[in-house]
Amino acid sequence: MRQVFNFSAGPAVLPEEVLAQAAAEMLDWHGSGQSVMEMSHRGKEYMSIHEQAERDLRELMGIPESHAVLFLQGGATLQFAMVPLNLLPERGHADYVNTGEWSTKAIKEARRFGDVNVIASSEDRQFTYVPPQAAWKRSPDAAYLHYCANETIGGVEFPFTPDAGKVPLVADISSNFLSRPVEVAKHALMYGGAQKNIGPAGLTIVIVRKDLLGHARAGLATMLDYKVHADADSMLNTPPTWAVYIAGLVFQWLKRQGGVAGIEQRNLEKAKLLYDYLDSTAFYTNPVDRSDRSRMNIPFRLPDAALDEPFLKGAKQRGLLQLKGHRSVGGMRASIYNAMPIEGVRALVDWMREFEKSHG
Ligand SMILES: *Cc1c(COP(=O)(O)O)cnc(C)c1O
Repeated sequence: MRQVFNFSAGPAVLPEEVLAQAAAEMLDWHGSGQSVMEMSHRGKEYMSIHEQAERDLRELMGIPESHAVLFLQGGATLQFAMVPLNLLPERGHADYVNTGEWSTKAIKEARRFGDVNVIASSEDRQFTYVPPQAAWKRSPDAAYLHYCANETIGGVEFPFTPDAGKVPLVADISSNFLSRPVEVAKHALMYGGAQKNIGPAGLTIVIVRKDLLGHARAGLATMLDYKVHADADSMLNTPPTWAVYIAGLVFQWLKRQGGVAGIEQRNLEKAKLLYDYLDSTAFYTNPVDRSDRSRMNIPFRLPDAALDEPFLKGAKQRGLLQLKGHRSVGGMRASIYNAMPIEGVRALVDWMREFEKSHG
């Protein structure tokens, strides 16, 4: 057993079982005599890993045949461009909801390629809530509607699936991927980097409705066209084989946890433990509206920024790592992804309580 709990926002904690299995298989995968890192991506060994990973992801999320699963690279950041380049016609326009830093980045990038309407924003209150849908100024002829399902920095998570009507719904699910059930069929496209909740950095997963493929901008680089990747089963060029392999092990681990419904129960329990404590004291504060609090990323502040350093130092001594908040918001942030055991959250709350006693 490792002696630390890692609260990093990403790259982030992975299940210890998965790391142990990867270590055991490092030199010789299933008697092949090779490490997965050394295998040809077109060989039958790696192909079986790749196909199994897609099958397991489809099973875990209930992804219907109407949607393609793509294993890509370039992070969610490249998706900020690929989404408009594939779904937004030259003279069309797209609707975006702005709930924080990642939405803002997606909006900024999309504006390089077309007309973007910000149909709702929570910037008026420092991105601490999800704007209620009744106030969204949706346009019925938008090419798509984009939202960020979980704002990793602000700790704001959508408690509902937006109703986009007939407009294709697009979601950045980087930081709550596989943490709770999602209504896949209501989404035209979902994307996320693997390094928050799924595996190593270097893999980006896109789940896209097949009827939306084939409308990429003329002259687009081949690598940026979803259809080319879908037609090639994500094997247009060398895929991030190692990252797909680890993601596949995480999918199998998730199935052993009772799938997405099982892990959701644990995630709810972990989040409740930390939020209940935060709400029981005035020493620590979380600025997010209760209904929209993230189950994955929980920012909190101490009463005085001068206490941040001693808090972090004591946390580190107790094996509680990477609690420093994002540089743009300061304070602390505990990321408690799927692989964070509840013991880690208990140890954090114990330390917070102890620190409050000596400094409150
Ligand atoms: C981390 C993150 C990104 C950026 O991901 P990269 O893989 O670094 O490009 C985008 N959106 C959200 C919600 C994130 O958490």
